Amino acid sequence: MEHRARKRFGQNFLTDPNTVRRIVDAIRPASDDNMVEIGPGLGAMTEPLLARLEHLHVVEIDRDLIARLAMRFGSEQLTIHEGDALKFDFATLAAPLRVVGNLPYNISTPLLFHLAAFADRIRDMTFMLQKEVVMRIVAEPATADYGRLSVMLQYRFRVGRLFDVSPGAFTPAPKVMSSIVRLVPLPPEALNATDEALLERVVAAAFGQRRKTLRNTLREFMAEADFLALGIDSGLRGERLTVGDFVRIANHVSARGA
Ligand code: SAM
Repeated sequence: MEHRARKRFGQNFLTDPNTVRRIVDAIRPASDDNMVEIGPGLGAMTEPLLARLEHLHVVEIDRDLIARLAMRFGSEQLTIHEGDALKFDFATLAAPLRVVGNLPYNISTPLLFHLAAFADRIRDMTFMLQKEVVMRIVAEPATADYGRLSVMLQYRFRVGRLFDVSPGAFTPAPKVMSSIVRLVPLPPEALNATDEALLERVVAAAFGQRRKTLRNTLREFMAEADFLALGIDSGLRGERLTVGDFVRIANHVSARGA
């Protein structure tokens, strides 16, 4: 029976074999990799992944699709986790974990933040996302796309955009372009923020009102003397700061105390 794509689960199924091949080639699965695919759908990527892997985990929320996947692939090589990837405990899977998927666009940002919490168990992540989101993930300072998502993900991961995929590769076709992005966790010694929750608050404040200067947006955290001590111009906007600058600000605030 035909599966009717469910909008609320962000279902756009890959139907272009060339695109599937390019993505799987970019992932380069090795037979003994610990891999999990998020949102396998009808199995467009699952099938070629299983052809190269001894075993694969998948996390899928749609019961109808789970029944189909189980019928199509059996249970020896494939472990199906039924549920919401946003709540899935990735620590239950063997590390180092490789995470892949053609993600439902409506949950991509919260899912990336959820996965960031498991970064120390993850080897790499390769996702298809809305191109606009990928541009924000990989954006550099002083560009329009640079913001909270860029800083918080680049703090933890080396990020790179691999290639774009046009709407015609999917059924139904989405309204927007997609891109493949890779995120590789940085080593623990590179994560030098003493208080990550504080770093998040500083970054959120700096980008909360993009047109305002740091003097205004970071008023709650920093006085002029603090900016002077760090050699950061308080008349700049948040978009001019590098990830390292944000870490220096958060560490300064943390060391100084409230
Ligand atoms: N990978 C398939 C493909 O490339 O054809 C399907 C991609 S489709 C864009 C997204 C898939 O994620 C759907 O199968 C959908 O049911 C599933 N999904 C949506 N929300 C989810 C969630 N919160 N947790 C797990 N899977 C989810």
